Amino acid sequence: MSKLKPETIAKLENFANTFAAKSGTMLNPVEGVAKTVIEGLAIHTEDFGRPLCPCNFYEDKKAEVDKKTWICPCEEMQTFKYCHCLLFTLDNGMPITEYLPEWHEGRQIYGLTNDPTPDKGRALSTVQNIVDNLKEFVANHKLDISEEEITKFAQETAKRK
Ligand code: SF4
Repeated sequence: MSKLKPETIAKLENFANTFAAKSGTMLNPVEGVAKTVIEGLAIHTEDFGRPLCPCNFYEDKKAEVDKKTWICPCEEMQTFKYCHCLLFTLDNGMPITEYLPEWHEGRQIYGLTNDPTPDKGRALSTVQNIVDNLKEFVANHKLDISEEEITKFAQETAKRK
């Protein structure tokens, strides 16, 4: 691993603390988790100029940076308040899964965890964004979930109608 500049780490730590407060989450309290994710974000920041999520596999990282979907805070976090890297979590280190459908891997892995601060976060939680995101998720995971079901879930779950 390349040696990270201290100022890059400091910048990402500052971003993470600020976003956690703004979104009503906290940095994962389990020792080492937040540090590892922040280092991953810092590596991508130094290599590509943007904090691309370090917890996905990408065929082409440069193309993903241009696409912006997984620039931290990613669209998934801003739509569902779910951080699959476990950087932005509850005080027990669990992610918030309340706004995911039951068939989403976040719910399958962690079960239902409720959001203690529903007034904060989910800045991109519109019906359209939820529909678009879940349709892509269903296609990528080859799930048999109808568009009608996705739309119904989005209408019930969106913060901003
Ligand atoms: S899952 Fe999203 S919010 Fe969490 S670290 Fe990755 S990009 Fe950031």
